[in-house]
Amino acid sequence: MTETHETHAVVVTRRRMAEVADAYDELEDRLLGDGQRGGHAAPSSRLPLDAHAATVRMEISGWATWCARAVMDYRDEHKQPWTPSTTDPGALLREIADEHIGVFFGDPIEGGEFIDTAEEFSRRARAAAWPTGARWIRLSVPCPEAAMSDMGERVECGGEYRMWMQPEQDVLGDMVCDRDDEHRITPAEWMRAMRRRGVKSVDGAARLVRTLRIAGRVAL
Ligand SMILES: [Zn+2]
Repeated sequence: MTETHETHAVVVTRRRMAEVADAYDELEDRLLGDGQRGGHAAPSSRLPLDAHAATVRMEISGWATWCARAVMDYRDEHKQPWTPSTTDPGALLREIADEHIGVFFGDPIEGGEFIDTAEEFSRRARAAAWPTGARWIRLSVPCPEAAMSDMGERVECGGEYRMWMQPEQDVLGDMVCDRDDEHRITPAEWMRAMRRRGVKSVDGAARLVRTLRIAGRVAL
């Protein structure tokens, strides 16, 4: 399935799957405790994983496996066997959403059912992961910070910026690195830095604005 022929339903459903994946990561972080999974720590915000959240987490995992099986069956039928590159449910859902979502839209009735399922999973997963509505929003913007190694070599941070957002919040917070809380910048500073760097940065800025819009926030 090519990008240009995707229907609105496909685009929206891909977003729902990404939301489920993000919520799964949050639930997983909470289950494992802060800092054990990529350092997505938000100590003040973190709630212990309750029985309901644990159930939802397992359901998401089951759904990710179901989706993967569906894609594998489809690809087997078409003599193009596929093996997922990951068994992590969140990463698996993202991979399927990005590369194989067309499998679920071959038949209109099944497509409709898949849309409903993704909607429902997204709603329940987000409610379980962020019961107060406050959450980290991934910005898909790489952290530009770097450190010096003992050998005097520059080592890129490799983290990504994210932003903590609460319902009804009308001012954007700092963009904070997911690897090191000390790496932070305000959105306005970041935009200025991007502008100084020239044309290529327009992509990054546009992506940030889009992400914040998707998250239901007014753009910068
Ligand atoms: Zn960083």
